[in-house]
Amino acid sequence: MLSFLIIPWILFFINQMSFGVTVVITILFIALLSFIIFLLRQFQKSTLLESQAYLEIIEFIQSSNQDIKISKDVVHDKNLMLNYIKEMQSTLNKQILKSERYRKRLRLILDGLQLGILLIDKDYKITYYNKKMHLFFNLMEKDMGQSIDQLELPLAFISVIHEAVSKGATRKDIEFKNKLYDVQVSPFLKTESNETQVLIVVDDVSLERSTEQMKKDFFSYASHELKSPITSIKGFAELILYDMVTKDDAIKALASIVSQSDTMTTLVEDMLMLSRLENYKESKQMKVDLKDTLKEVLNVLKPIIEQKNIIISHNMHMIEMVCDPMDMFKLFKNIIENAIKYSKDNAKVTIKLHHVNEEMLFVVKDEGFGIPSIHQPRIFERFYRVDEYRNEGGTGLGLAIVKHIVMKYDGIINLESKVNQGTLVEVSIPIKK
Ligand code: ADP
Repeated sequence: MLSFLIIPWILFFINQMSFGVTVVITILFIALLSFIIFLLRQFQKSTLLESQAYLEIIEFIQSSNQDIKISKDVVHDKNLMLNYIKEMQSTLNKQILKSERYRKRLRLILDGLQLGILLIDKDYKITYYNKKMHLFFNLMEKDMGQSIDQLELPLAFISVIHEAVSKGATRKDIEFKNKLYDVQVSPFLKTESNETQVLIVVDDVSLERSTEQMKKDFFSYASHELKSPITSIKGFAELILYDMVTKDDAIKALASIVSQSDTMTTLVEDMLMLSRLENYKESKQMKVDLKDTLKEVLNVLKPIIEQKNIIISHNMHMIEMVCDPMDMFKLFKNIIENAIKYSKDNAKVTIKLHHVNEEMLFVVKDEGFGIPSIHQPRIFERFYRVDEYRNEGGTGLGLAIVKHIVMKYDGIINLESKVNQGTLVEVSIPIKK
């Protein structure tokens, strides 16, 4: 390199080059040399800066994830360092993807739960709620981060949460929009990041509770209904036993015992039938001519038809259907018997059994007492009776049985009634061949 500086001066001393040219070449060479040195310095500086930046990156990565160990030597090899960062980036991407998938799965599980889940922090601000919670109490995205005290939530619900926070885990039933909710609050759960959270689990127990109530009602009604015939049977039997009645009265007492026993038998039979229908017990299925079944029913009801002198007008089609004959017999009998029972003497009852569009249509119309509209929504309930007609006899299970039979055969039942004008009951059931 130095020869480039010396050669022009040697040429000058041996008079081969003029002084001016030698000086210009020397200056040009020195300028070129300085420029090269300047460039080298710059390059060195930027490499130093880059290394510094890499070091900082390594420190940052390591401080955010203790599991990652990077040798500081890689800093001095730019390519190695870049590969390292790329590798790191793909590992991080995979981790992010994994935790995202985990988060989605968890969300799916929580949203699929039949329970409402709500999390609030120590300031009563919502930190999480699942889909059921939105359905139960209409919580929205905009409610996240809001205090429960500022939202339009049921007051009873908010007060259960406050009670749990001051007294410890609490569980209560609350009512909201005609539904009953079981609310369980577990306060002060610590999260991984040591935050205090209150967990609220809500369950819609409306159906459960009403079933429990229905069971209680059933037992109380059933025992009540059975108690009266048993009491009168015992009374009549004692009269005869202690010889307290004349021979004629004893015969009457015995007849009453037989009639009360019949009432009890009907009640027990109806209860058994209802229990079979409610438990979806398999019953025998066979091809039945419904017209024959209906004729049989009218035959069984002949005594009461004649006793009340009811005029029966009927129009029947022959319909063959696969079913349990006992089901159709009960369906026809209970509806027609009601039409007769709840009509005055000499009244008219119209019966139709038609085959319409692959459906069996059974219609019974009477001109009897009718059912006050206030009672109509409840008359298909077990043991429900309209008080004024209680002395007509009956178990109060007739229409409950009818409803279950219609449900069993995927049919529809419709009842229209007006007080003192009469009642119309229509049943349509798809015909199974
Ligand atoms: P019950 O054994 O008392 O007849 P049901 O379940 O068959 O029980 O009927 C429930 C109640 O509905 C009856 O007690 C009666 O008050 C009323 N009801 C049913 N059918 C008629 C009807 N055709 N006309 C008037 N009231 C009726």
